[in-house]
Amino acid sequence: MKIRVLTIFPEMFSILSQYGVISRAIKENKVDFVAVNLRDFTTDRHRTTDDYPYGGGSGLVMKVEPFLKAYEKLRDSEGKPHVILTSPQGNVFNNEKALELAKKDNLLFLCGRYEGIDERITSIVDEELSIGDFVLSGGELPAMVMIESILRFVPGVIGDIESVEKDSFFNDLLDYPHYTRPREVDGMKVPEVLLNGNHEEIELFRRKESIKRTMLRRPDLFLKHEFDKMDKKALLSLFRELMDGVE
Ligand code: SAM
Repeated sequence: MKIRVLTIFPEMFSILSQYGVISRAIKENKVDFVAVNLRDFTTDRHRTTDDYPYGGGSGLVMKVEPFLKAYEKLRDSEGKPHVILTSPQGNVFNNEKALELAKKDNLLFLCGRYEGIDERITSIVDEELSIGDFVLSGGELPAMVMIESILRFVPGVIGDIESVEKDSFFNDLLDYPHYTRPREVDGMKVPEVLLNGNHEEIELFRRKESIKRTMLRRPDLFLKHEFDKMDKKALLSLFRELMDGVE
């Protein structure tokens, strides 16, 4: 998979290329990632990427030409990318969108600054995505958040794909609670069932916890979830425990 980002701060993306599992995937060429400096596509001596807004008012606006030039160069040399404009006005990014984008082979993220990019940028944009209903000063962090989440679904990036499929939101369930050593901290014990080595009982316990959490914290997801055999067994066991408590 190829991922390009257009930004005036390419150095910020060293967070992706130098830390954690994503950096390993980049170093091992499982993903071809480049943060492109937008200033390389300016034509004036000062490498200007912003200007005053037509119509007046506060703030600066990012000029559209450097973005268009960079896009055309990438398109001509590497093929047409799927272009994502980072914007608080876009559809809100989620796990489903990450899975969908992980299937594309050429993504280009556009990072705004100041008041955003000149509206004519929409001529090259395939979709506008937001990371939530709040405003940041630039598109770099949103692009990094989305890229990290997308790459987790690209085969080979995370060694253990099963762990990705057990994470929250996959199949509309929240993840179950995790514990590690020691067995007891300040009187708080690891649930006994996790220590007995019975894989079926452990799986049932985890599924029950996952269903319980989703019901309580995210009923919207719970109602969307399609229950498999193990879910049904866990649900029945939860009901039984509940009824035992009533009697
Ligand atoms: N004037 C814009 C508005 O109110 O819609 C906000 C511009 S914001 C200060 C500058 C840039 O940060 C945006 O062009 C976008 O690239 C990025 N940005 C800010 N908040 C974001 C969010 N929630 N999701 C995605 N990108 C965001």
